[in-house]
Amino acid sequence: MSDHETVLVIGGAGYIGSVNVEALVAAGKRVIVADNFEYGHREAVHPDAVIEECDIRDGDAVRGMFDAHTIDAVMHFGAYAYVGESMTQAERYFHNNFIGGYNLLNAMRDHDVKRIVFSSTCATYGDVQEVPIDESHPQQPINPYGCSKLAFELLLRSYEISYGIRHAILRYFNASGATAEHGEDHNPETHLIPLVLQVALGQREHISIFGADYDTPDGSCIRDYIHVSDLADAHIRALEYCKNESLFCNLGSEHGYSVREVIEAARKITKHPIPAVEAERRAGDPPRLVASSKKAKELLGWTPRFTDIDKIVETAWLWHQKHPNGYAW
Ligand code: UDP
Repeated sequence: MSDHETVLVIGGAGYIGSVNVEALVAAGKRVIVADNFEYGHREAVHPDAVIEECDIRDGDAVRGMFDAHTIDAVMHFGAYAYVGESMTQAERYFHNNFIGGYNLLNAMRDHDVKRIVFSSTCATYGDVQEVPIDESHPQQPINPYGCSKLAFELLLRSYEISYGIRHAILRYFNASGATAEHGEDHNPETHLIPLVLQVALGQREHISIFGADYDTPDGSCIRDYIHVSDLADAHIRALEYCKNESLFCNLGSEHGYSVREVIEAARKITKHPIPAVEAERRAGDPPRLVASSKKAKELLGWTPRFTDIDKIVETAWLWHQKHPNGYAW
């Protein structure tokens, strides 16, 4: 049943965006997906959503979208997110992630749209000394990607002060897993779980373990893998929450798994040996990133359903088997 609220989803054809669109439709919202389809996939957009091909760097195009539709709220997933690439392309990252967001906020202000849920990242914290990481951790990002996300967080705060636009800033840890319909299909793929599953599908010879000499129990990096469905659940709750007040919080499962543990889970689930090769550390990888999600749990009444890496990998494996070439057929 529709509650007649219309949500504009920027980047709704991407991995996390498409799963959120699925959740919004299930929650009875009308959904408009805006995507420039540089990385997004048309096939990933829910059939009930209206598609607007729009690049948020184009302020006129963004305004045109708000002129054409009555929009109640915005979810913003439309960002570049390759940390390595951002190291040498700060302009590109700020143009899309900051200026694009600035265009969006100006259009919201001019059309009296008062709510936005924003995909932020634990990369805004920078060098992490201690885990679990809560929201009081200093935000000192160490790459242009993290800087561009933090800059937009500050813009959101500023636009609330000046124009009363309320926001939910959600700082994700490692988004992972799939629904029956939507999974992870990046080009290039750099993320651990899809790469491991590509080995199981016979598309790659082995997986490289980037760094085997970290100060962790098995020497490989530890990350907090949060299932995309749990992320989407938090977004739906945050959309309601910011009807009343703004918020910023982490979204993680609060469980840390090492690279070796992820590979082992994939071996178990796929029944493929998945050869692994120890390789050099990847620049900029902190040894451990694990969230405290206490704040999200308290404020949003949210509990992640997936905390076990086997279950997360299982959902991803089901999707990858069905879509061995991603959304491209
Ligand atoms: N990783 C790895 N081999 C790969 C890809 C990733 O060992 O081929 C490691 C990476 O160094 C990190 C973890 O897996 O410690 C998760 O990386 P991913 O790129 O998935 O997410 P990130 O933590 O960088 O956001």
